Amino acid sequence: MAEWQTLSDRVNSVAPSATLAVDSKAKAMKAAGVNVISYGAGEPNFPTPDYVVEAAAAACRDPKNHRYTPTPGLPQLRKAIAEKTLRDSGYEVSPDQVVVTNGGKQAVYEALQIIVNPGDEVIIPAPYWTTYPEAVKLAGGKPVIVFSGAENGFEPTVEALEAARTPRTKAIFINTPSNPTGAVWGEETLRAVGQWALEHHIWILSDEIYEHLTYDGEKTAYIGAVVPEVRDQLIVLNGVAKTYAMTGWRVGWLIGSVPVAKAAAKLQGHMTSNVADVCQQAAFTAVSGSLDAVAMMRKAFDKRRKAIVAGLNAVDGVTCRTPKGAFYAFADVTALLNRPLGKSGSVAKTSSDLAGLLLDEAHVAAVPGEGFGAPGFLRFSYALDDDDLAEGMRRFKQWVG
Ligand code: PLP
Repeated sequence: MAEWQTLSDRVNSVAPSATLAVDSKAKAMKAAGVNVISYGAGEPNFPTPDYVVEAAAAACRDPKNHRYTPTPGLPQLRKAIAEKTLRDSGYEVSPDQVVVTNGGKQAVYEALQIIVNPGDEVIIPAPYWTTYPEAVKLAGGKPVIVFSGAENGFEPTVEALEAARTPRTKAIFINTPSNPTGAVWGEETLRAVGQWALEHHIWILSDEIYEHLTYDGEKTAYIGAVVPEVRDQLIVLNGVAKTYAMTGWRVGWLIGSVPVAKAAAKLQGHMTSNVADVCQQAAFTAVSGSLDAVAMMRKAFDKRRKAIVAGLNAVDGVTCRTPKGAFYAFADVTALLNRPLGKSGSVAKTSSDLAGLLLDEAHVAAVPGEGFGAPGFLRFSYALDDDDLAEGMRRFKQWVG
């Protein structure tokens, strides 16, 4: 580019996605013929359920679905999302509180765009999903990171949040079950965080996208149910991607008070307008149907969860607690840093170096904790098939020696 062709400060302030960086390197190696085992993916490796695909195919053939829909979504889908919220979260919302977005990611983006002013601070408990701080920056806000380690089950204390609070604190993210840790926050934590947010007039952005992926009898607790008083300052972020293996369909939603939903629709009206009609029809079939497909996935993931935690803990220098939700294992690898590793004797100074070496030398892809505000960790997605999962663990162990 010529010297005058500078890009905006806004885009220059944003870091590229760590998850996508590992994924694209692993894909390039695969394309070059290298047999890479990838734990990088953030998506279920199951097809979308047949009946959802059939509904989309039928919708596709009907010309009435070839047009714009209302910006906030098809009325029947908004209604189905309101009903699903009552079924799963246990409280009532009306369809006009729902805005259908292009994936949960757009819901995150819009929520921040409509509440954050320049200089406002948004508290992000770490380890966090890599998009949160970047989306805060894109809204002109300042991400304020509050880290909680494995010893606290990756759940923040109110004391830690209070220490981070300033007069500019505008919002806090909650993501349970969590990407990347798989932690499922207890009701007590949610209650305490909810009371604290109420007392200090802080918006709550509750990302519930992994709500149906919990194990060992654990159940997702919903802050809007645990602390009903927060509902006027709560924005729920969700979507069909993880529950129905529909990452590629790009359907998510946000739920807020009516003024919040109106503001999000106003914004979306100038960005992407509505989500593709056919995809909304598919989402309608998914959301208004049963949870059988996710029950099947949960069973498969549960088996892999146990296998990967055992595999990781069998690697000398790796410790991994058993996650209770989502499909990620978050392993502490600090004991592998700053020492010669395996036959090659390579030394990793950071978890990011370690992920690079693991990929180059053992052909195993995992995402470094740096991208989640947690250096010293690697994230392993166990949404891959059983044989690959076992083979990758074998390689990791053998490589470390
Ligand atoms: N929230 C979390 C925590 C996620 O991990 C993801 C996807 O990885 C999303 C939201 C967004 O999902 P999508 O935009 O595919 O609906």
